[in-house]
Amino acid sequence: MTQYPALHMYIDGEKVSGGGRQTFDVVNPVTGETLAELPLANSADLDRALDAAQRGFTTWRYTPAAKRARVLHGAAALIRERAAELARVATLEQGKPVGEAKMEAMAVASWFDFAAGECQRLYGRELVRPVGQRSVVRWEPVGPVAAFAPWNFPLVNPGRKLGAAIAAGCSIIIKSAEETPASALGVLQCLYDAGLPTEVAQAVFGVPDEVSRHLLASPVIRKLSFTGSTVVGKHLAKLAAENMIRTTMELGGHGPVLVFDDADMEKALAMSAGGKVRNAGQVCISPTRFIVQEDVFEKFREGMAERLAATVVGNGLEDGTQMGPMANARRPDAMEKFVADAKGKGARIDTGGERIGNQGYFFQPTLLSEVPLEAEVMSEEPFGPLALINPYRNEDDMIAEANRLAYGLAGYAWTNDVQRQRRLADALEVGMVGMNTHMVSSADAPFQGVQWSGHGSEDGPEGVKACMVVKTVHEA
Ligand code: NAD
Repeated sequence: MTQYPALHMYIDGEKVSGGGRQTFDVVNPVTGETLAELPLANSADLDRALDAAQRGFTTWRYTPAAKRARVLHGAAALIRERAAELARVATLEQGKPVGEAKMEAMAVASWFDFAAGECQRLYGRELVRPVGQRSVVRWEPVGPVAAFAPWNFPLVNPGRKLGAAIAAGCSIIIKSAEETPASALGVLQCLYDAGLPTEVAQAVFGVPDEVSRHLLASPVIRKLSFTGSTVVGKHLAKLAAENMIRTTMELGGHGPVLVFDDADMEKALAMSAGGKVRNAGQVCISPTRFIVQEDVFEKFREGMAERLAATVVGNGLEDGTQMGPMANARRPDAMEKFVADAKGKGARIDTGGERIGNQGYFFQPTLLSEVPLEAEVMSEEPFGPLALINPYRNEDDMIAEANRLAYGLAGYAWTNDVQRQRRLADALEVGMVGMNTHMVSSADAPFQGVQWSGHGSEDGPEGVKACMVVKTVHEA
């Protein structure tokens, strides 16, 4: 049996807990039972972390890239070694099937390896000048980073932010979600064990609004990296603007999926249903709005309903589970409201639509069809196992529907017509396009949204550069 670890913060190299601090109950979403108490930071804790982050930056920024790379490669190796245990802890606190959690751990390791390579290729350039003069463009680390990572990918979300900052030469204070702290601490421990100086990366937890206000008001912090909802992203962007802090915002999405009559229907159905139930739909790039050409609509609706209904839902630690509970009590409540609202406005429920059991946060994989645009779920991110499917006549109508919302994270299309693929790649207003695939995330590929889905990239060379600034030096 996996033991859930005792929880603490990591501030200036010290495990911080107790001392009369407020606490937060971390809960197992399978049962709703408390796993452990998490200590929350007070303002003295945050000031201490800021002070350490300032010290950490002054040394880490001048630490040779090869040494930073050694730490990141070392941490990647440790994550692979500890992947099974990291995954079980992530499943205990977040609920996803343990196989998905293990893939998450592996993704963090591959990102650390990629960032390690990338930080050794931050070349800058020298400009052509007359004899005796010199102009150089340099990439420098932006400074101490404040990072806020949500609970849906408890390993990858903090991992991405830690890897980018550390590769770039920044220090970082990370506040991962209070719901899933042990995963973030497990990743951080791998970095420490690989030789990262403890003042370079620290973990705090707290009342989110108090922590973000405190950190973003400090002159120490030079960059904010946030993953979460658009509404919180807008709030934090305003706070960051007060101190002109640079931001990377990875916010919500409403994944449009365009399905054309020339698509490989079996493949489209398998990936769409599999993609929808992955992490119980709590994925910012989850396929959500299925925009289906009318002559294949019935076939697609039936195929999706069949596959979603056949999903094995259960405890993520048990063999054979394909979808776990939702991560917290807020999610099934939100699903019930979305379904009731859509049904009331005339949507048809093809499968699912209800909670499962009377303990934990389980919700049925659900397909709603012929959903009126006025239904809330057609405009708000469901962030759960709800698929919405409507018929459309032609490509132009389908593109218009895909671009209807201000969200623009990932968009998908299923078609075997190469010319159409190119038109769609041009037309979709998103940061990532999946053409005949729903796999749009890898360590070497930048991950980003446009409009209300945010700005700035994570992963890829762009993810490391997002923690850097350019300085031009002219000498005469
Ligand atoms: P929420 O909007 O309250 O919180 C989302 C995340 O932001 C959490 O991790 C939370 O700790 C953090 N947060 C909230 N207020 C903050 C603040 N003032 N300062 C710093 N961090 C803050 O909602 P929730 O119920 O936790 O999640 C539901 C919604 O969040 C979903 O509907 C979805 O749209 C969005 N979400 C998006 C992602 C993503 O990957 N983009 C991940 C998780 C949640």
